[in-house]
Amino acid sequence: MFQYLKEHQYYEDRYDLNTIEQCLNQLKMLDDIDKKIRVAPEFKNYPKSELDKDSGLIAGRFMFAITAQRYKERVSTIAEWVAEDKTKQDKLDNAIPPKVNCPKCGTLMIADDFKTLEDEPLRVLFNFSCPKCNKREGVYEDGEVWVYEPSYCSKCGKELKTDIKIKGDITIFTTKCTSCKYKNVDVHDHIKDEAKRKAREQKDVELLTKYRDRFCLSEKQGEEYVDLLQAIEVGFAIHDEIIAEMDNPAQEKLMKVKKLSITDLEALLNKTLTDSGFTRLSIGAPDISRHVLVPFTIQDTVKRHDLESITALHDLLKNALKETNWRAKKDELSYRLGFISGRLKGYENEEDLLKLFGREETKKPKSKIDPELRAKYENHNYVQLAKMNAEYEVKTKIRTRRLKNEPEGFFLNDGGRGYTCAICRDHHDGEDIWWRPDGLRCRDCWNNIKKGVIPMLKLDAHDWEKEFLTKFDITYKYKIHPSIVSKLRRQGELVGRDLKNAEGQTYCEVFLVEENKKFLKEYCEKEKQNVKN
Ligand SMILES: [Zn+2]
Ligand SMILES: [Zn+2]
Ligand SMILES: [Zn+2]
Repeated sequence: MFQYLKEHQYYEDRYDLNTIEQCLNQLKMLDDIDKKIRVAPEFKNYPKSELDKDSGLIAGRFMFAITAQRYKERVSTIAEWVAEDKTKQDKLDNAIPPKVNCPKCGTLMIADDFKTLEDEPLRVLFNFSCPKCNKREGVYEDGEVWVYEPSYCSKCGKELKTDIKIKGDITIFTTKCTSCKYKNVDVHDHIKDEAKRKAREQKDVELLTKYRDRFCLSEKQGEEYVDLLQAIEVGFAIHDEIIAEMDNPAQEKLMKVKKLSITDLEALLNKTLTDSGFTRLSIGAPDISRHVLVPFTIQDTVKRHDLESITALHDLLKNALKETNWRAKKDELSYRLGFISGRLKGYENEEDLLKLFGREETKKPKSKIDPELRAKYENHNYVQLAKMNAEYEVKTKIRTRRLKNEPEGFFLNDGGRGYTCAICRDHHDGEDIWWRPDGLRCRDCWNNIKKGVIPMLKLDAHDWEKEFLTKFDITYKYKIHPSIVSKLRRQGELVGRDLKNAEGQTYCEVFLVEENKKFLKEYCEKEKQNVKN
């Protein structure tokens, strides 16, 4: 009788073989792509070492994803398989033959040991024979009599007849149409089939021995991978949530806002208001709670009606403060004897600023992540990284949109601290950092570009496409002492350009690759050789 339920090892092997096959197929596919990339013209200048690194990274990521996913589903899938087979086995083992009387002579028929299990519905078919007249009949356990269902010719639609011939180990099924000339011969060579099955089994054993350790994760490694896999899933979802939440006009305005200190504010107001007839701005002691509230008074030198005076002042304030984090409410302005008093309100908190710039309080769409999962992985390094990436992406998107009106770029002015200039490598705050999509330049470097001391210089170039080196690069990377660099410049071996700051001091020396080809070739050949290997 057919055995459905097998040893547990059988299921484990089957699952692991599946994993191995998936991994091998994936690796083959990646290898094919890799081969194509290596001969593609777009990658002509890409160093071989970089290609090796990239394809290694990509393969690693793919393998991580597959093996982690396979590990995650291993136990449950195997359990499902076992349960399925056990159901079948139990059904077959425990089915009781029904009572059947011979349709010819009415005698109680006897079921032999041969029984088969059929799908949909799952039921057992028994073989009965009549002890009196030898009539044979197939009857299902539920009493339904098995009826022969003929097959029909695919060419003419008439009935097919199959003839079975057994010659030793060979069984030949010959199917012929009762009407047309259709004929099909199916030969089953049991010895050959058995040999094929053995060969397949042998191959499976070889695959398992060779690859199981590599592609089928141990429990320890598997748990680590699954953990990371889940963190990545949560990271992706949070990333998308942040993008959806942050990419809006209010955020865009917030990124342009000038966060002014009280001193800056006073200077700004004095400048704008004096020109319009208001004078003697006096600022009182601030009241600092959630917001900073600063009382002020000012005198109007123009003779006008009190309401006119308030409206004029409010319009001026509104305009001057538009792109700052300060506001003054009209209904808080009051006029008495030529004095106007009021309050300036400073916003610091990002949420408050967003509201100030008109972010609508929209209902947050329901999160795709299970709250428990979110809580578990919220602080995972990977999720933190995904958040940072999302914020960076939104900022870049919004900044890129600004390029439409400011095609050359702009100073960040975002209150950010400690940005690194990609040319001189000095650190500067947002107000001194010029943004362009390829990277950050400090105010001094940007001025040097504007003056033509150095060209724009592509900042996001790959290492091997770099357009320039600084003195620091040459001393550090190629181990040439700074004094030697200066000497080489004097001798004309090296061609450098001095970047000067507003005070006229040289703060950085830049060497264009284009102008120093000979030097780089001679001095750095050895270094490059080392990098390549
Ligand atoms: Zn009978
Ligand atoms: Zn036919
Ligand atoms: Zn710089």
